[in-house]
Amino acid sequence: MSSGSLTIDLGALVANWRALDSRSSAQVETAAVVKADGYGLGAAQVARALARAGARRFFVAIAEEGAAIRQALGPGPEINVFSGHMPGDTEMIHDLQLVPMINSIDQMLRHVEALPGAPFGIQLDTGMNRLGMEPPEWAALHDIAMQQGPTLVMSHMACADDPDHPMNAHQLRAFSEMTQGLNVPRSLAATGGILMGPEYHFDLTRPGIGLYGGLPFAEAHPVAHLSIPVIQSRWLGPGETVGYGNTWTAPHDTRIATIAAGYADGIMRLLGPGLNLYAGHTPCPVRGRISMDLIGVDITHLPEEPAALEVLGMQQGVDDLAGLIDTIGYEILTSLGGRYTRRLHGA
Ligand SMILES: *Cc1c(COP(=O)(O)O)cnc(C)c1O
Repeated sequence: MSSGSLTIDLGALVANWRALDSRSSAQVETAAVVKADGYGLGAAQVARALARAGARRFFVAIAEEGAAIRQALGPGPEINVFSGHMPGDTEMIHDLQLVPMINSIDQMLRHVEALPGAPFGIQLDTGMNRLGMEPPEWAALHDIAMQQGPTLVMSHMACADDPDHPMNAHQLRAFSEMTQGLNVPRSLAATGGILMGPEYHFDLTRPGIGLYGGLPFAEAHPVAHLSIPVIQSRWLGPGETVGYGNTWTAPHDTRIATIAAGYADGIMRLLGPGLNLYAGHTPCPVRGRISMDLIGVDITHLPEEPAALEVLGMQQGVDDLAGLIDTIGYEILTSLGGRYTRRLHGA
């Protein structure tokens, strides 16, 4: 078998959820965001592990994801959909008991006409200009929406990964003003907002990335461990080259291992120049271009050919990879792809 091995540490995932839960007071509910297939790590397994640990509310981006989570969890836990009630979603929302976060008057009308009495939440825009109602639209809908009894009123923060950003206090103020006097549970904070302290917590928090071991939750336990088997290795003499485009030339005798993963597996081409893989604690630099399914790695300094090399694990995490190419851990995780053999640890 030559597929890489992606191990999801469910024990670490649960520990991260508990650690984020403990950042807010006991009255504050800690939900879990499992959109994009649980940030690429497998939404069904992630949601089941968190439900066992006590999470009672899950968030997804679109109704189709909510349907998959309902199938994984069965009846009971609340599944909220950020994109709200879109055309074509009605049957899924009804049959799988999803709760749309209503983003506009149009969505509100669609929801009450198609599914009168069905639960919903409200999403407000407090400055991110992405999803939710802005103050004038909310003012127009407010009384009607409140008569229908939303289960939650939420908004999302644009700059919560930077606790010093003035946008945070601005959005906190806007959210407080837009929801003042409402007798409905409120939610503003994702991972970054949780870390900023109790005034951002309201009644419910919605962590995503911190559960999966990513920044801004610096104390998170790593959840994704990725190891790629070596298919073969060879000695190069000085002046020989590796991979497409001959971009790397051996300066001296060099042993190159070819491993069974590439950019089709989320190890992006741009990562090539600065990336090390690990044999235990020993870094081994990538040589030449990353191909679709294969990568050349310098193992000259190892005593023997390793069976596999580690991409993600105790030596480097998703944010180390992200830092090499000016992106974020979220993008590394959600790019990992479907070709790995996935294993669960600590289930
Ligand atoms: C993705 C998302 C979250 C989770 O954010 P993290 O930064 O991953 O914790 C919470 N709320 C909304 C609206 C989101 O889109």
